[in-house]
Amino acid sequence: MDRVVDAPELSGVRGALGKKAVTALARSVIAEARSAALAGDSPATFAEVVTRVRQRAEARLRAGLTPVINATGVILHTNLGRAPLPKASIERIAATAGGYSTLELDLSTGVRTRRGVHAELGLAELVGAGDVVLVNNNAAAVMLALSTLAAGREVIVSRGELVEIGGGFRIPDVLARSGARLVEVGTTNRTRVDDYARAIGERTACLLRVHPSNFKISGFAERPALAELASLAQARRIPLVKDLGGGLVVDLPASVADSELAREPSVQACLRAGADLVCFSLDKLFGGPQAGAVAGRAELVKALRDDPMARALRLDKLALAAVEAVLDAYRRGALSEIPVHALLAASLDALARRVDEWRTALGELGGATETVRSEGAIGGGTLAEAPVASVALRIAGRPPEILAERLRSGSPAVIGRVVDGALLLDARSVFPEEDRLIVAALRRALAE
Ligand SMILES: *Cc1c(COP(=O)(O)O)cnc(C)c1O
Repeated sequence: MDRVVDAPELSGVRGALGKKAVTALARSVIAEARSAALAGDSPATFAEVVTRVRQRAEARLRAGLTPVINATGVILHTNLGRAPLPKASIERIAATAGGYSTLELDLSTGVRTRRGVHAELGLAELVGAGDVVLVNNNAAAVMLALSTLAAGREVIVSRGELVEIGGGFRIPDVLARSGARLVEVGTTNRTRVDDYARAIGERTACLLRVHPSNFKISGFAERPALAELASLAQARRIPLVKDLGGGLVVDLPASVADSELAREPSVQACLRAGADLVCFSLDKLFGGPQAGAVAGRAELVKALRDDPMARALRLDKLALAAVEAVLDAYRRGALSEIPVHALLAASLDALARRVDEWRTALGELGGATETVRSEGAIGGGTLAEAPVASVALRIAGRPPEILAERLRSGSPAVIGRVVDGALLLDARSVFPEEDRLIVAALRRALAE
């Protein structure tokens, strides 16, 4: 054991990982070699054991967060970190992260202020809400809204909206955890205003409407417009909470105007329709860091903010810095500075030109490639099914899984998708600054 850990071949990984971690890896490699030998395999040599320890240590070192090039065509890819941040957000994070900041201090008075007040007011102004409270993500936003408004009481939800958004966010479970009791109304495919009206009683705390982000009920289906539900809620004096998710705060560009995405409601539209509180993510179509917001009527938002749970769910200062910079960009109307909007706005012609340029740069290696129309997506649980027209580089004639694996193991890794036996690298989610890198990665992968 000591000889393995102290082997000269492991000096690099010992330095990077620490002797303790290398010892733990050596212990498990030796144990595995021993049981393999007992099971009848030929015993591993000392050199083989050392090599296995080194390989595992190297894999561990690679395993942290690493930048990748997203050529999946899915703009808000949850596995790849959703929205990339604007440069201004990155700069603002850098400027405040290493030192002290005015997180809870007003410089003009020298008096303590509420954390996040600047970003919360800015966001409220942008979406036309009475007030906004910022938390860790949209799951936290929904949890806070329900537990503040409805703990120990009833929340009415349509059976068609008892959904799972992904990553463990299931509406019935979130409701149960918030301490509220779920009252289901309607059926999976059809729910009417009357269904809600009949279910309202003394113990009703609020109506909850969930945006069907990642699935569709088609055919014999019906549900009331948000405004109809809002009228009912208003008449019966109970709040209507909308879990919107997407966080769209502007009109979408012409490139997606006739796609399904054009029907994605904005935060403003939900508030105008009469929702009392709207919960949404800031790392989806808003284009910011991981954060969640509850926007709506001032007295309700204040109740949420004053709930002890808000303290446990509060947003950290680096994300706040990033949100402030995104808000600045919206205020200036500089959508092109927000990467999600820049990616969405790219025209098909521009994408096709870039893919052609990748192929030209590949020279002979580009022989087996073609430029094809493809379907990207918004992703991130935000109309995940709604396609966004796109253009991709298609590589056929080679086993696509092997090629995909080679591109994944490069630096930077390039993530594509396999469709109909070919590898597609979709330009919709690739930044023009990454074109050079993608060509270099392809050159290495195709030359092997
Ligand atoms: C994405 C989404 C969530 C979860 O949001 P997070 O920011 O990932 O916590 C919840 N509800 C809806 C409708 C969503 O689209």
